[in-house]
Amino acid sequence: MALSWIYSAPLLLLLLLHVVTFCQALRNYPDNEVTLLDSMSAPGDLGWEAYPAEGWEEISVMDERNTPMRTYQVCNVMEANQNNWLRTGLIQREGAQRVYVEIKFTLRDCNSLPGVPGTCKETFNVYYHESNSASPPPLRHIRESQYVKIDTIAADESFTQTDVGDRVMKLNTEVRDISGLSKRGLYLAFQDLGACIALVSVRVFYKRCPLAVLNLARFGDTVTGGDSALVEVRGSCVEDAEELEAPRMFCSADGGWLVPIGRCVCKPGFEEVDGRCQPCRSGFYKASAMDAYCVKCPPHSYSHQDKASECVCERGFHRAETDPRSMACTRPPSAPGNPISTVNETAVTLEWSPPRDSGGRGDVTYSVHCKKCSGEAAPGASGTGERCVPCGSGPHFNPRQFGLAHPRVLVTELQPRTNYTFSIEALNGVSDLSPSPRHLVSVNVTTSQTVSVIVKERRGRDSITLAWQAPEPSDGTVVEYEVTYYEKNQRDQNYTVLKTKSNSMTVEGLKPGTTYVFRVRARTDGGYGNYGGEIELETSHEDMLAVGDPNQQTILAVSIAGGVVLLILLVACFVVSGRHCGYIKAKQDPEEEKMQFQHGRVQLPGTRTYIHPHTYEDPNQAVREFAKEIEVFNIRIERVIGAGEFGEVCSGRLRLPSKREIHVAIKSLKAGYTEQQRRDFLSEASIMGQFDHPNIIRLEGVVTRCKPVMIITEYMENGSLDTFLKKHDGQFTVIQLVGMMRGIAAGMQYLSEMNYVHRDLAARNILVNSNLVCKVSDFGLSRVLEDDPEAAYTTRGGKIPIRWTAPEAIAYRKFTSASDVWSYGIVMWEVISYGERPYWEMSNQDVIKAIDEGYRLPAPMDCPIVLHQLMLDCWEKSRSERPKFGHIVNSLDQLIRNPSALKQLANSTIWEDPVTPEPAVSTVEDWLDSIKMGQYKEHFSNAGYVTLDSVLYVSVSELGKMGVALTGHQKKILSSIQSLQAQQGTHVQV
Ligand code: AMP
Repeated sequence: MALSWIYSAPLLLLLLLHVVTFCQALRNYPDNEVTLLDSMSAPGDLGWEAYPAEGWEEISVMDERNTPMRTYQVCNVMEANQNNWLRTGLIQREGAQRVYVEIKFTLRDCNSLPGVPGTCKETFNVYYHESNSASPPPLRHIRESQYVKIDTIAADESFTQTDVGDRVMKLNTEVRDISGLSKRGLYLAFQDLGACIALVSVRVFYKRCPLAVLNLARFGDTVTGGDSALVEVRGSCVEDAEELEAPRMFCSADGGWLVPIGRCVCKPGFEEVDGRCQPCRSGFYKASAMDAYCVKCPPHSYSHQDKASECVCERGFHRAETDPRSMACTRPPSAPGNPISTVNETAVTLEWSPPRDSGGRGDVTYSVHCKKCSGEAAPGASGTGERCVPCGSGPHFNPRQFGLAHPRVLVTELQPRTNYTFSIEALNGVSDLSPSPRHLVSVNVTTSQTVSVIVKERRGRDSITLAWQAPEPSDGTVVEYEVTYYEKNQRDQNYTVLKTKSNSMTVEGLKPGTTYVFRVRARTDGGYGNYGGEIELETSHEDMLAVGDPNQQTILAVSIAGGVVLLILLVACFVVSGRHCGYIKAKQDPEEEKMQFQHGRVQLPGTRTYIHPHTYEDPNQAVREFAKEIEVFNIRIERVIGAGEFGEVCSGRLRLPSKREIHVAIKSLKAGYTEQQRRDFLSEASIMGQFDHPNIIRLEGVVTRCKPVMIITEYMENGSLDTFLKKHDGQFTVIQLVGMMRGIAAGMQYLSEMNYVHRDLAARNILVNSNLVCKVSDFGLSRVLEDDPEAAYTTRGGKIPIRWTAPEAIAYRKFTSASDVWSYGIVMWEVISYGERPYWEMSNQDVIKAIDEGYRLPAPMDCPIVLHQLMLDCWEKSRSERPKFGHIVNSLDQLIRNPSALKQLANSTIWEDPVTPEPAVSTVEDWLDSIKMGQYKEHFSNAGYVTLDSVLYVSVSELGKMGVALTGHQKKILSSIQSLQAQQGTHVQV
């Protein structure tokens, strides 16, 4: 018999209505929950089956909007041996492997029911049964063994009777989950064994990660995994975007997206606006997917259509293949001006002035074309009656004939008494692209002077006879010839000049078997001509044959020809090899030279290396090379966000011409600086400007042309990592923490591949943006010495942040990427412990000593064992045994993919520090202060925990009730309670 006098239907209705209003307000569920069954919003009869008939009873009530609502109640407390079942219809699971059951109910406290027997219960059981069928066997045949028990449910709060007939209703909400589902659906069953219950609402739902768009990649609705594993989801790029690195995210068991990896970027011709790719407007273009925004077409170019990936040059203007798309279109230069020739016998110097119009380029060069002309030029009509042919290879141009950088050339080895026409042309990088005729200036030159060529000779033991050609009569009348000779290799010491009017001479008094070098030139009434080339002749040991001997002449001719050929070959080889070397040198990138200078080894193709600013004689040159100069009027300073070594750090906005405004951080150099300080300040920009990686802070540019000097970087909304972690103690999942570590490791991998050693890697030097992306920062040259408050002087004089630095770097300043790996291990420890100070309050000297004796930081609280092992690997004494950053990134990626490896926690906690045991405390306040949880002093005293003994029994639910809501804080306090228990020899299961 139901206890209707106590728990009558009208009263129940009233009480139910009381809670219905409350429940209605909660009917908007989070968008990561998909409801499979909601008894409160079922339109008609729920169709649930109850057995036996006098057990569960359906009651319809109207909610405040007059919508009927189904509830069930049972209250057979006066009779023993109750076994009342209530079963839902088939609940389709829609592919979910894990579903949640949320039950809202009220339950009557047996003590509050006068006269009920001892069989009265205060719990009920919930079961489920998986099935593919929508028509289950009738409930009267139910066998408990076919059902899986989910839980026995008890009320947190039951009815409390304040007055007869005036009861205050408390609504209980319990949520249970069922995982590993595989059949079409499931039935829920509620078993009552003699309690007084009203089931107000039953809701079954599963969790999913709702559709998200991040980094221009779309991640579809994803049902969470069956157990607590993460589901890796591959994102697809939004329209008009392409993959930079395959976008991935992980859907966590509670329906949140974690650890975004990779990203998409807008294709050329498109830019990112509010998470979508929009086409560049006409007049704008974007050349590469890697560029962030569309920019205005450069001068002399246009884009008439949207989506331009480059701008087209205006008519008459061109773009060379190697010209960047951002460069203005240019045209060929005008002709050079004012050519002047200065003839010196058979040589001529040509000079001219640069073209009036360089075509807009800085790469103007000159070419000189040479023609040799014979015949008479008709006055006023150049070329008429003249026969001109190309000069061929005869003349020699110094420094060269084509590609002259300066407007000057010396032409030698011209033929005497010959007319030449030199046409000089200015060229630039687009001359070959222009169909218009070239602009040339010409200059006519006539060589005049004589050369004498030795044609015959005769050798004796101590004399040599020479004969030579007489010059052409048109060169003027020969006054005399001058013969010069010297003993080979003795030129500097002694040479002899002889004169004759004849065109032959016998030189006597020579040494037998000795080689002499002879030259002959003619003097006419116009002056001396050129020498006609040198000839080497050796006096004989014996008297030689006469000059007229044909055999001798042949031998002589052959040997001279051979010698000349040999000489030409040698000269040619020399020239070719010289040119070759010259070519290599000219091609060698000055940067490459600096790199090689710095690192003393050859670069692998495709790799880039960091260039130390000191490589530059002028440090300003390094700044100019690696940092973009920004006009100060493009910057708007908003507020001060920090203090750096050289001055304030502010946040603000940067708006560059034809670019979107961006949020930036602005570091300025305070007034009254020395030149050295200015250089050190800007060195950070010349270093940062060489890096381009998503986990390295990005340099936007510098202001150096006006004061104050500034460095502009991307803005990182969450500031430095150490402060950020302390502020959010305990609020991140381990996967989120691993995601942060992965970012830092990826940035460090990039730096190590660039051969850059950071030397001060620590959480305080990592910045965090609004997406929780961590970026390595702080690249100043003097920073380790001056800037870092953690840096302390070592015995060797240098200033080093001891707690973060590898022992070999402390001992003998051996800073390498392997010492950065050591520091990285410390950063991992800082991350997991939410910004705890490494080695707590130990002195630097104690830290050095402890490390030397083999002590290593223990695993922080709740630290997965694999992460602590990775830290220990980073802290290997021998630096060659430490992992490389690439290896660390891979290991963390694997953990993100397979987080079950993170489940096993290291046993030790940060409270188990053997060097600094937790100080003995005697009051609750001191205890909370000692574990940095002082903010909860009032919570404890309000809840009645006034002595230290009393806190030994605090449970997690009590912490929640007293208002300690953050899981991390709860864990910290409970962990400390465990160590208090250990100190006091108590052991209580908390
Ligand atoms: P630093 O001189 O680089 O050590 O910077 C001093 C402080 O300014 C840092 O600790 C940060 O709190 C803040 N800060 C520096 N750079 C940035 C940035 N790019 N975004 C946000 N805050 C920054």
